[in-house]
Order: sequence, then C-alpha cells, then structure tokens
Amino acid sequence: MVLSMQHVYIHELMSVSVKSVPADASLDEVVRMMHEHVYSCMVITDDSRPVGIITERDMVKVLSELLVMCPTRTFYVADFMSSPPVCINEDATLYEALVITQARNIRHLPVVNARDELVGVLSYADMTRAHFNAIEKQRDIIEHHIRERTRELSEANEELKALSLQDGLLGIGNRRSMEVDVQFTHINAVRYKRPYALALLDIDYFKYYNDHYGHQAGDEALKAVVKVVQKSVRSSDRLYRYGGEELLLLLPETPLQEAVTVCERATEQLFKEGLPHSKSPYAAVTCSTGITAMVGGCEGDWESMVAEADKWLYQAKEQGRNRVCSGLAALEKHT
Ligand code: GH3
Ligand code: MG
Ligand code: MG
Repeated sequence: MVLSMQHVYIHELMSVSVKSVPADASLDEVVRMMHEHVYSCMVITDDSRPVGIITERDMVKVLSELLVMCPTRTFYVADFMSSPPVCINEDATLYEALVITQARNIRHLPVVNARDELVGVLSYADMTRAHFNAIEKQRDIIEHHIRERTRELSEANEELKALSLQDGLLGIGNRRSMEVDVQFTHINAVRYKRPYALALLDIDYFKYYNDHYGHQAGDEALKAVVKVVQKSVRSSDRLYRYGGEELLLLLPETPLQEAVTVCERATEQLFKEGLPHSKSPYAAVTCSTGITAMVGGCEGDWESMVAEADKWLYQAKEQGRNRVCSGLAALEKHT
C-alpha cells in the first residue's frame, strides 16, 4: 500500500476547477463567492501565478475583526450554523466516516453516543491520519512477520491479499499485488541479508489446449493448475498470476535447493493429477518452471530476479517441458 502511494501523483488527485481572484479583488466579492459556491479557499493570483491564498481560517480572522468594529450588535450562531449537522455514531468505523465525509463533501463530523449526545468531533485530518496509520501498521506487522517467520505470516499474507487486488479468474494475487509483494520481499532480503526464491510457472502447450478443448475449458484447467500448485507449496509461499497462463511463486526465506524441492513436488503433483491434454506429448496438463534465488548480500532489483527466473523457465521449455530448471541469481554481490 505504502509503495503504491509512491505511484499516485498529485496531478491525478488535485481539483482542477481552481478558483482564483486577483489581489485587488474586494473582500466582499471573495466572501460572496466562497459562500455561494461553498469554496473552502480561494487562491490569489497575479498573471496566473499564486501569490496568496485565503481560506476559511482567514475568514474567521476577518470576522473577528469585523465583530470588534460593531460591538453594539449581537449576532446569534443559530442564524449562521449548518443545521441539522451530519453526525456520526461513536461506534461507526473509520471507513463509514470517510464515506460520509466524501459523499457529503464535509470535513467535520460531530460524534454522538447511542443517546445522540455529543461526545466528540472528528475532522477530515483525523481520518486521513488514522487511515495512514492503519496502512503503516499493516506494513509493520507484515515486515515483522517476514523477519520472524512465524505462523502468523500466512494470516498477514491473507490480510495483504485482501488489501491488494486479486485476479478475478484464479482468486490469487494479480500482477499488481505481486509487484508490491516481490519488491517488498526483495528490499527486506537485501536489507537483512536473507535468502528468498522466486519461481515462474508456465503451462505447457496451453495454446493447443485452448484450440482443442475451447477457451472456457482452458479457464477451468488454469483454475485446476492453481489448485494443485497451491496444495503442493507451503503456506508461506505466495502464488500470483504473472500474466496469461504464467504464475509467479514467491518463496520468502527460502534458499534455492528448498525452492527446487517445493516446485518439483508441484510439477510432479500436477502431472499425477492427470488432467487430460491429448495435444501434449505428456497426454496431461503439465507445467514448466524456472527458479532463481537470491543469496544474502546481493545487489540488483527485483525485476532482475524475475528476468533470471524467466531465463530458467526458457531452459525448462527447451529441455522438453514438464520440469524445473534453476540457478542462483547472477546479481552483483556486495564486496
Ligand atoms: P509453451 O509450452 O511453450 O508454454 O506453449 P504455450 O502454448 O503454452 O505458450 P503460448 O505462449 O504460445 O500460449 C499461451 C496460451 O495461453 C495462449 C493464450 O490464449 C492462453 N491463455 C492465456 N491466458 C489465458 C486465460 O486466462 N484463459 C485461457 N483459457 N487461456 C489463456
Ligand atoms: Mg506463456
Ligand atoms: Mg505456456
């Protein structure tokens, strides 16, 4: 989540219907516009360049000075307040509060208890902070679990999966979530000099399968392959759809030989499953796998790991398919 935030750019978020006035605009014109159009701020520009900003907070300052200037008249809040206010129950969730504030375009929510009594106020800034904290906390939990390699890792993995996007057909992580997970695992492996392995699995002669049995049957075969592979690997290994009929298996804290054992078991299991494929020399649906692993202290990025695994996958195809080929990542080592 945090990594993906680094790929969200301001120009995608900003409001482009920005309202601006020149510095010689009259205050009453600005107040009228802010009031009529419910602007929370207006930017003062000189030849399209921002030279100032006037916000609701500045308006409070203006108002307080004006009130001092007319001490004889009493103004009542009832004449100016927004009523009735949109309130939120203290037992509601952050998600509900975010939805309400966004839907109503408001930034403050009085908080009430079950008896509708005021118990607090929630600002949009509070919610943004809480949302960010929740994401940070999630990341800390996952980081901790990966280091400790405890049983809870698979639970955190479930949470991570739920937060990220799954592949609609196969019910496993999609390419985007794979990129976040692999990058995260890679960075940690480099930082803590830990091993990890990465495997690319590709179904053999799948084009022939589709041509012979039809695309829908192809989809069912893909699902079946995912099921078999998932059953053969360990709970700490994570399977993603890399694209088309290619899967990526991420094996954190795993040296190469262990990864080979896991993948050979999956390859054998898939063959034993005997899903008919009359257009394959194996007469069954099979897959080829390329594996690479990073040894502690390597440099290089996660993309080179994937490229390396792909190289070994190509080898597996070349050598006749239905097999595993592997090698350590030839990434540069720290000296
Ligand atoms: P190889 O053994 O060399 O991997 O041969 P291949 O035929 O599997 O490889 P190729 O890349 O030529 O074909 C992949 C096929 O996978 C073609 C494409 O239509 C099929 N495919 C990719 N995604 C899906 C999918 O979601 N559903 C189905 N049914 N087929 C898919
Ligand atoms: Mg392919
Ligand atoms: Mg294929």
